[in-house]
Amino acid sequence: MGKRGRAQADSGELDLSSDAQPPAPEYMKGPMGIKRRKRIPFSQRERLGHETPGTVLRGPQITVDCECGEQAELQYGDRWTCPSCERVYDTSNIPRDQYEKIRKLQFRFRLLPIALGVVSISLAVFFTLSGNIFAVFILLPSVIVAWFMLLRPPHRRRFQQAMSDMPTWDLRAEAQ
Ligand SMILES: [Zn+2]
Repeated sequence: MGKRGRAQADSGELDLSSDAQPPAPEYMKGPMGIKRRKRIPFSQRERLGHETPGTVLRGPQITVDCECGEQAELQYGDRWTCPSCERVYDTSNIPRDQYEKIRKLQFRFRLLPIALGVVSISLAVFFTLSGNIFAVFILLPSVIVAWFMLLRPPHRRRFQQAMSDMPTWDLRAEAQ
């Protein structure tokens, strides 16, 4: 009756569970918690300092894989009734302190892209107001290129390394 709950950074950006496993076929969604390997369209990938509203402050979403194969992204404390098989899961059964550890870890790693975004936007506003529109056209592409080419890959690796040391939980469906 076990089922897996796993903290996840945001909408499918990090498939932490499959890091150590060989690549699965596309679209495979296995019962062992193997996540989709489908490539995420560029537009849905991590953006500069922009996240799903509430992710940073309310904490990472928890991916719940129901035994029947249904999947849901929940916030900590949410109760969820599987629409297909009506099993009920309660994420507040996850130990609070463990979830907090993950939340803090994720928040720490969010700071760099957020800071970069804030600084870039401030500079863009400053250049715009001081009539230096041309600088904005150089600044913004440079920041984006620097982020994707130089900063993000090692940042992501460190984050995934840190996340792989974090626990996963076996949430159990409540008795019906
Ligand atoms: Zn189900």
